[in-house]
Amino acid sequence: MSSDVTRPGPRHRLSMTLLMTPDMANFSGDVHGGSILKLLDHVAFTCASRYAQQYVVTLSVDRVIFREPVHIGELVTFEASVNYTGRTSMEVGIRVTTEDIRQQHVRHTNSSYFTMVALDDDRRPVPVAPLVPKTEDEQRRWRKAERRRAVRKQETADGH
Ligand code: GDP
Repeated sequence: MSSDVTRPGPRHRLSMTLLMTPDMANFSGDVHGGSILKLLDHVAFTCASRYAQQYVVTLSVDRVIFREPVHIGELVTFEASVNYTGRTSMEVGIRVTTEDIRQQHVRHTNSSYFTMVALDDDRRPVPVAPLVPKTEDEQRRWRKAERRRAVRKQETADGH
């Protein structure tokens, strides 16, 4: 049997669905923003490290806007893709949707973009395989990631 047969889809994309449980609640009874942030970082780590076949660290996070509350008892799906690769860094985009189990009403609650760096055993940045964006969406996301990277570099140079 070819090893490709057992591969869970393209290595630059993944999806994870989780039930929001009461231990994630804030004082309003919705899901605590910090719980979502932790899950986002976990998903970004998993997506980037599987793509790079190395452990990675989070360098930066662009734009985490909690557009709408996420409720306890909902299913939350994180769809993640490597959008862009530099020499040792990757941008992982994550689209978050929530689904009400009984009504099956789906809401897009947040999208965010993480920059992750691959590290070797001595914790030095290590080159990653260049991503080849194929579909129109992938090419659009690559261009958007390049623009975000340029803005971040400019802000760092300006001392923001
Ligand atoms: P976009 O970046 O302008 O396409 O904004 P979206 O909110 O639609 O998506 C945010 C990010 O989530 C994208 O940049 C992708 O990295 C990722 N993403 C979006 N849709 C999917 C999907 O269907 N599957 C996977 N695996 N990732 C997705």
